[in-house]
Amino acid sequence: MPYNTDPRNNLTLLGREAKLYRTGAEQFCVFAMDLEDHKALIPAVVSRPKEKCVRVGGEHSDKQPQVANWLASYWTMSQPRHTEQQVLAKFDKWYSRYASTYGEPSTLYIYSFLIPCQRDGSNGHCADAIADMLRGYQALGKNMRVYVGWSNDDVDTDMAHATKHALADLEDDDTQIAIFPRLSIAG
Ligand SMILES: [Zn+2]
Repeated sequence: MPYNTDPRNNLTLLGREAKLYRTGAEQFCVFAMDLEDHKALIPAVVSRPKEKCVRVGGEHSDKQPQVANWLASYWTMSQPRHTEQQVLAKFDKWYSRYASTYGEPSTLYIYSFLIPCQRDGSNGHCADAIADMLRGYQALGKNMRVYVGWSNDDVDTDMAHATKHALADLEDDDTQIAIFPRLSIAG
C-alpha cells in the first residue's frame, strides 16, 4: 500500500522502508514530513547509502539539490548517542530547508523500532527530547500534526507507560499528537 491519508499505514510503511539498512535487530528510527502529500520518500531509500540517511539534502538532480522529506538513523551509526538524538540534532536545519523548498510541513511522522526511551542521560531521554522539540515548534506557532509509532515497547513496561504519558501530555499544550504502539514492520 502506498503512502496515503491513514497515519497508521504511513508509519508502518515508513518503518518497513527504512529498515532496509538495519543490521540484525539494531534500533533505528525515521522521521518524515507530509507523507500524505508526497506519497513517497524523497530521495528513495535505495538511492542513498545508510550513512547518508541523516542528510538533510537529497540527491542532486540535474537542476538543483532536492531536500529530503525523511531522515533516518541506525544504532551502528549513532552510538553511543541514541538514534533519535542523531535525527533531532539535525531537525532545525532540516525543518527550515524543508519549509523553504516545500512550504511549512503540516504533518510529522516519527517511527522508532524501540519505544522512545526515558533513560541514559545525555545520550538518551529521547521521549523528553522529542517532546521538548515539539513544544518549541508549537511555541513558534508552527503547528504540525504529529504521529508517533514504534514496534517494540516490551523492553521496559514502566518506561513504556511513562513515555506514552509524556507524549500524550503534549495535547495539553495544543500539539495534535497521536500515538501508535506495536506497529508491525514484518514483511
Ligand atoms: Zn533513546
